Amino acid sequence: MSDDELRKMQERVREADFVLVGLGESFSYDWSALTEDARYREIEAEIGGAREYIWITPFLQKMVLRRVREDRWTRAYRNLESLLAGKNYFIVSLCMDDYLYDTALDEDRIVTPCGGFRRMQCDRNCSHTLTDIPEESYEAVLRYYRGELALDMLHEPVCEKCGAGLRFNQLGVTRYAEEGYLERWGKYTKWLQGTVNRRLCVLELGVGMEYPTVIRFPFEKIVLYNQKAFLYRVHASLWQIGGEISDRGRSVREDPIGFLERCVI
Ligand SMILES: [Zn+2]
Repeated sequence: MSDDELRKMQERVREADFVLVGLGESFSYDWSALTEDARYREIEAEIGGAREYIWITPFLQKMVLRRVREDRWTRAYRNLESLLAGKNYFIVSLCMDDYLYDTALDEDRIVTPCGGFRRMQCDRNCSHTLTDIPEESYEAVLRYYRGELALDMLHEPVCEKCGAGLRFNQLGVTRYAEEGYLERWGKYTKWLQGTVNRRLCVLELGVGMEYPTVIRFPFEKIVLYNQKAFLYRVHASLWQIGGEISDRGRSVREDPIGFLERCVI
């Protein structure tokens, strides 16, 4: 997208009454960065495929996410903050990396239906409740990472009620606890009702076909029914916009992170 068009998009956002943002799977943090860490590679070799230690890896991922960062994602999110400053917005994100929650963006205007690393749940979701991360487990993994604690000193945190393993509340556990996001999803659908027949700018960034019923298809429908809506779809390979709404949409064949990085206001 040319710089002129980029300015036009920023203008559209400025003039809109509401801004709806969808962040998709290709916006997610690239975990392969972990393997650049020598200690992480050592740990991977030590754990091997041992089932009893599988729970450690997500803790290591959370540790990496807590570090002070300055990378492409930080820059992209910073520009998203500026773009949305002062706007009535809502963000739906498929990312599980919690990046969004480290920004100045309003947590009450964010929903992450795939979960993340902020809370934990019983792997079997036996009680339909979420729990805080046991600080001692986190500390123990941290000390293990630093080489201060041996692997066999680590104990998997377990559910107090049924004894199954505790997992981060995110897709991929045996029974995902949707309780982690449903209340916010309710706020989102209510917010959407308020956008009917109002000027709505929709930014869909890196949303592919992994979970199309969460963002991609509903966003198309919203734009189809709201004549005052305009859709920007940014994706490196799935950028196309279907015929019915093509006159109120602009497809951008670009990496969504790079796209936002260029969006300096
Ligand atoms: Zn349980």
